[in-house]
Amino acid sequence: MESHIEISKLLLQKEKLRVTPARLELLQILQQKSPAAVTFSTIQNACSKTDRVTLYRTIQTFMDNGVIHKAYQNEEETYYALCSHNCSSEAHFHNHLHFKCTSCQQVTCEYLLEEVKIVLPNFQIHKAEIGVEGTCSRCY
Ligand SMILES: [Zn+2]
Ligand SMILES: [Zn+2]
Ligand SMILES: [Zn+2]
Repeated sequence: MESHIEISKLLLQKEKLRVTPARLELLQILQQKSPAAVTFSTIQNACSKTDRVTLYRTIQTFMDNGVIHKAYQNEEETYYALCSHNCSSEAHFHNHLHFKCTSCQQVTCEYLLEEVKIVLPNFQIHKAEIGVEGTCSRCY
């Protein structure tokens, strides 16, 4: 557990974010599940001492600073995952896709063997997201 706290502190320092109990707690739960994404309700249960408003604000701050990103969203849940070192407050760089297992409902960040280049003539692409659904290696 100690090492998780150390990593969280380093991460917060890197992004020049103040270390608060709510931020540390949120980072820890995401690190424990990584590379799997974590649903908002899982985060809420794990961070039971943090009120809902603070939790939403902490998530938003982390998204704005390139610490976490939205991995998947459906009507019931939003899934969040940790970003790599490439992300910062300037921009998010995700050369990966999000895989949703329709059997266990787990969402993971999966790195591609080969980079996918999306070419759309006459359009400027600011952000591209690839969502893939199927059966994960634990379920098939
Ligand atoms: Zn990111
Ligand atoms: Zn599965
Ligand atoms: Zn991801």
